[in-house]
Amino acid sequence: MDQERPGFTDTPWLPDVDYRVHDPDRPHPPAVTPAGPVTRPPPSDATVLFDGTDRSTWVAVDGGDPAWPVEDGVLRVDPGSGDIRTTEPLGDCQLHVEWATPDDPGDAEYPGNSGVFLADRYEVQILDCAASPIYADGWTGAVYGQHPPAVDACLPSGAWQSFDIVWRRPRFDGDELVAPARLTAFQNGVLIHDAVEPYGPTTYRDYEAYEPHGPAPLRLQDHGFPVRFRNLWYRPL
Ligand code: MG
Repeated sequence: MDQERPGFTDTPWLPDVDYRVHDPDRPHPPAVTPAGPVTRPPPSDATVLFDGTDRSTWVAVDGGDPAWPVEDGVLRVDPGSGDIRTTEPLGDCQLHVEWATPDDPGDAEYPGNSGVFLADRYEVQILDCAASPIYADGWTGAVYGQHPPAVDACLPSGAWQSFDIVWRRPRFDGDELVAPARLTAFQNGVLIHDAVEPYGPTTYRDYEAYEPHGPAPLRLQDHGFPVRFRNLWYRPL
């Protein structure tokens, strides 16, 4: 892999653009310097998923208590312990997530990897792109492997950052897809997705067709880095 233009040239073509999955020639998102993360407390009608102390709304994907520690008001990935997901399913919602990659990115090729999986399937990527570039559709804020963020709104390694996401889950009539999922998202208050439609569930070096599902848990990814989370909440729509 060429570190200047990381990516793959043996992957499938995406449905509606002239790029492959993880295409090294897909333009990187242009950089915008955000003023900072959005860090306001939840509004009155929010369902709080993590308030700095209580992680009882989360389970390990294998079941049982997550190994992820709560320290100093922060929920941190315990690398190698696996993803965690909410105990309750989320339908259409406005979702707020604050996160921070490690202060020291280390020497990993793609440091600070984690992610927010909507409906347990569709990843909005977390990565330390300020430390190391990746292919466009793997960028921080990307709908991974499908839609790069409109702009690169990343803050430096270790800085707290925010996602605010408006999520509409896909609709099915029996086995048939009636309406794809749709999401609008802001990173650090900057628009990165304007009503984009995932092609299907997230995978690596490929893309998958939709499979029928209803409201489903939110999942946070353990990709081997001690990424931190705080102030997690959503409002059902
Ligand atoms: Mg990830």
